[in-house]
Amino acid sequence: MDIALDFFDEYVGDKLYSYLDNPLAKLASPAAANASSSSLSLSSLDLSSAPNAVSSVTAYLATVPGLSSLPRDSMLRQALSLYAITYVGIFVLYFSVATASYYLIFDKRMEKHPRFLKNQVAKEIAFSLEAFPMLDLLTLPWFVGDVRGHSQLYDSIAEGPFGQQGGVMPWLYMAFSAALFLWFTDFAIYWVHRWLHIPFLYKRLHKPHHKWIIPTPFASHAFHPVDGYLQSVPYHMACYMFPIHKYMFIGLFSFVNLWSIFIHDSDMLCGHPLEHYINGPAHHTLHHLYFTCNYGQYFCWADKAFKSFRVPAKDDDPLVAVLSGRAAPKAVVPTPVAVATAVAAPLPSGGALSALAPASAPAATTTTRPSLSLRAVAPEMKRIDSGLGSEVELGAGSGASSSSSANSSGDESAPTPAPADKKKAAVGAASGAAARPRREGLRARK
Ligand SMILES: [Zn+2]
Ligand SMILES: [Zn+2]
Repeated sequence: MDIALDFFDEYVGDKLYSYLDNPLAKLASPAAANASSSSLSLSSLDLSSAPNAVSSVTAYLATVPGLSSLPRDSMLRQALSLYAITYVGIFVLYFSVATASYYLIFDKRMEKHPRFLKNQVAKEIAFSLEAFPMLDLLTLPWFVGDVRGHSQLYDSIAEGPFGQQGGVMPWLYMAFSAALFLWFTDFAIYWVHRWLHIPFLYKRLHKPHHKWIIPTPFASHAFHPVDGYLQSVPYHMACYMFPIHKYMFIGLFSFVNLWSIFIHDSDMLCGHPLEHYINGPAHHTLHHLYFTCNYGQYFCWADKAFKSFRVPAKDDDPLVAVLSGRAAPKAVVPTPVAVATAVAAPLPSGGALSALAPASAPAATTTTRPSLSLRAVAPEMKRIDSGLGSEVELGAGSGASSSSSANSSGDESAPTPAPADKKKAAVGAASGAAARPRREGLRARK
C-alpha cells in the first residue's frame, strides 16, 4: 500500500491536506500566513526554486510535502489517505470487473430461476455499497501497519530472502512465497468460511451472503462487512507472517478479488478434469444452492480433506430448472441444529443430485445448456422465513407452488430432493442415519 500511498500523496494528498488545513494555502492571507501551523516550518522550505510572485509562491507552497499540519508520515493522515484509496480501489474494482463479468459471462437466463430474487442485481449492489465503508474501516489497521513498516513486504529482490546471495534463489523464493500465499489463504478461508456456517455466526454474519441463492458477479462483495472482513483476514495476515515481494502481493491480492467475482457468475461448467482441483464458479454455485459444500476459495483440496467436497454435476445446474420450467424446491433455511450438524459432519463426496433422488424420480433430461423453451414466470411469491427471521422473496415459476406442495406431500418429481419440514430435517441430520442420504444437508438452502 505504500506505493499507492506515495502516488496519492504526490498527486493528490499534499495538495489536498495543504488546502484543508494549511493557512498559507488559504489564498495567501497575511493573517493566515502568520498563523502558526503546528508542524509548519518555513525555514525548512526550499524557496529558491519557487516563483517570485506571491500568488505563485502560495500555490507552490501548497504543493510542498510537509506543509500540512498532517505531514506524510502522520499516522492519522496515512489512515485517512488509505481509507480513501481503499474505498476508491474497491469501488472501481467491484464495478468494473463485476460489470464485465455480468455482461460477458453471467447467463442472463439465470434471472428467470425461481430462486432469483426480484431486483436482485440492484439489491446485491446496494448491499455491497452499504458494506464497503465498514469493511474499509476494519481493514485499515492492516494497511496502516504495512505503510509504517510492520509487514514483511519487501520492495526489491535484493531486499528479500536470498537477495544478497543473488542468482536464482531469490526468484525461487518469490515463486515459493506465491504458492505459500495461495495455500495459506485458501486453507484459512476454508475454515473461516466453514465456521461462519456455525449457527451463532451464520445467523449474525454470513446469512446475508446466502440470500443470493443464484448469485450474480455483483454478489461477490455483497457480505455483511464483518463477514467480508473475516474472510479477508488471511490475505492480510499472510504479508505479516512471511516475506512477500510487494508487487507480487499486489498481484495476488488483485487476483483473489477477481477470483471472488469470477466464482459468483453461477456458471456450471462441468466435466473438466480441473474441477477436482480448482474451486471454480460451479463449485461456488453449489455452495450457494446447497449450503454445506465447497467452502474453499480457489482449490478443492481442503473440501476433499475435510469431507465437504461436492463435485459439480450437470443435473445441479440451476439453468436446468430454468429451461425445463421445473420449479426448484422452496428455499428453506436450516434450523440451527441442522446447520450445526451439517458443519460438523462431512458430506458424501461428490455425486450428482439425481443420484440422491429416489429411483422413481425422472433423470434430468437436459445437459448443461439444454435448449428448452422458457415457461412464463408466474407472479412473485413472497415468503417470510421465520426460521432465522429473514425475508425471502422468490420469483416462483408457474409450477413452483404446485411442485412445492407436491414435494411436501412426498412427490419426488422435482429434480432436487423435496425439503422436509425443518424439525424432521434437524432430527434426521442429527441422527446421521446411514441408510438415508443426508438430504437435509444437500437440500437447497438460503
Ligand atoms: Zn457460505
Ligand atoms: Zn458466495
